[in-house]
Amino acid sequence: MADDIDDLLDEVETKYCPKDRRKGKETSSSIKSSHNASFKRKYYHELINLEDAIITSFILQPDVKPIKSNGYDARTETARKCYPIYVGGANCSCGMGTSMSQKTCDKMRCTSCDFKVVSFDNFEWTTDTDYLFLRNHAPDFQKLKSNLNSRKGYRAYCCQCSFRSIKELTQLKDPQLKWVCGKH
Ligand SMILES: [Zn+2]
Ligand SMILES: [Zn+2]
Repeated sequence: MADDIDDLLDEVETKYCPKDRRKGKETSSSIKSSHNASFKRKYYHELINLEDAIITSFILQPDVKPIKSNGYDARTETARKCYPIYVGGANCSCGMGTSMSQKTCDKMRCTSCDFKVVSFDNFEWTTDTDYLFLRNHAPDFQKLKSNLNSRKGYRAYCCQCSFRSIKELTQLKDPQLKWVCGKH
């Protein structure tokens, strides 16, 4: 590359520098070399900047794949979360749910109380269950069971602020529940 720059600069100099200046410089090699050195340095830096600009625009192109490590992490993160999130009764299988594999999420957490969502198969909540009860007893089954009625096919879900008794497989869409999949 250095040779190319030299050739280019010599050409530029021959074409655009006034003849008498060139003549003068030819007589003094020390002036010419110092002039050339600064001239080349200047253009060399401009070329480097140009290279940076080309590299930057290449990276910014939308069809260029993201840097491998970042892209990989982001995809794994999404791939391990249920979408959509399913909840269901005791007969529904648990695991990571997708639209192809409708499993109920067993890794939910509540973004409102910041607790894990627990579930108990073949139970439903009594009607007097409330926020205060859950706040004092969740997630300990031994403490919660006073408000759990045995009911076949149902599953009782709760965190420390909300609870639901569910029988059928359903997508979690209730706006009052701040439950999200906490990754599988
Ligand atoms: Zn999940
Ligand atoms: Zn909660």
